[in-house]
Amino acid sequence: MPFDLVLDHALVPALSDGPVSIAVEEGLIAAIGADVGPGRVHEDAGFSLVVPGFVDSHIHLDKACILDRCRAEGSLAEAIGEVARLKADFSEADIHARAEATLRMAILQGTMRIRTHAEIDTRIGLRGFHALQRLKRDYAFAVDLEICVFPQEGLTNDPGAEDLLIKACSEGADLVGGCPYTDSDPEEQIARIFAIARRFDLDVDFHIDFDLDPSWTHLDAVIATTELNGWEGRVAVGHVTKLSAMPPERVAFYAARLARAGVAVTVLPATDLFLMGRGRDHSVPRGVAPAHLLAGAGVTCSLATNNVMNPFTPFGDCSLNRMANLYANIAQLSRKADMALCLDMVTHQPARLMRCEGYGIAVGNPADMVVIDAKGEADAVARIAPVLMGFKRGVKTFDRPRARLIEPTSA
Ligand SMILES: [Zn+2]
Repeated sequence: MPFDLVLDHALVPALSDGPVSIAVEEGLIAAIGADVGPGRVHEDAGFSLVVPGFVDSHIHLDKACILDRCRAEGSLAEAIGEVARLKADFSEADIHARAEATLRMAILQGTMRIRTHAEIDTRIGLRGFHALQRLKRDYAFAVDLEICVFPQEGLTNDPGAEDLLIKACSEGADLVGGCPYTDSDPEEQIARIFAIARRFDLDVDFHIDFDLDPSWTHLDAVIATTELNGWEGRVAVGHVTKLSAMPPERVAFYAARLARAGVAVTVLPATDLFLMGRGRDHSVPRGVAPAHLLAGAGVTCSLATNNVMNPFTPFGDCSLNRMANLYANIAQLSRKADMALCLDMVTHQPARLMRCEGYGIAVGNPADMVVIDAKGEADAVARIAPVLMGFKRGVKTFDRPRARLIEPTSA
């Protein structure tokens, strides 16, 4: 019997030095090899790299694409203030429309699994969460979307926010997040977020340490509370830009503790680069945490999008390969192995962070496959090689044919 689909001439460096064919049956990878037999449909990867889809472990779909409504773009405090001012007027339809446009852009860049953060507070209520729940259902054919509800404006200082968070969790939020740096009582927020996580048996994802002052950190509180609750392997922290301002021995100290506590780190290169170091008018620090060093010390690390076209990040195309390239450039990486690690931090590592099941080009896994116009992992990152086509559970969900030069015809 022929397979449902065979993707020919695929480069999967972890499996083979040469091209392979990947056979798909009922949405799963059924065989991989030089000759897997016939398929009812054959697609040609064209001797290009195939990855199991990009994984964006941190993006704010609900506040994407609002740049044209903003008065100011500058510091982190201004960005938070602008969104706080605007979001009281966000309707569910408005959030849905902007988030949908952003999600479609991500799908067309080869992203197949996403953790999106949804702001919950007394200004926006559950409107953002409900809009994202609709998108999760409507786009399940192309992307697995999980929703992390969190109090961007603080928790203990916003009476009513905690009840709304609990309501969202009871209505099916996939996990709960926190933002202690905006709370008047950060450590109390961390404790309460863990209490909600325990009540609903959810993973946790914090925004923390979003400045360059190395004299204090919330890492100690997050690590201690993770261990106290037995939540090892279920906690992630985003930004942690303070780590970029610490000397190597302190980074190594925290890396060892994060690895031991199973706390993963998401670095948001575009936002961190845009918002950090604002107090300087020369020799401006990059302000991006050293993800490759943390990963080297055994911490699960991802590079992610965070924001698109808003005051936190006034640019963005949802390309995670571009984010891998940006990080390599910031961190001054040039070795092939380091470039491949950057690709790993937008694919396998965020999949581990999100505890995705069945991720990877392997027999028995869902046939999530993205063809990148590159000869290998380092080549893909170095050239920000474009994606050519993608398959979600064996069904083609997009294609972007290779650009073609049209030369003058000779007379
Ligand atoms: Zn964020």
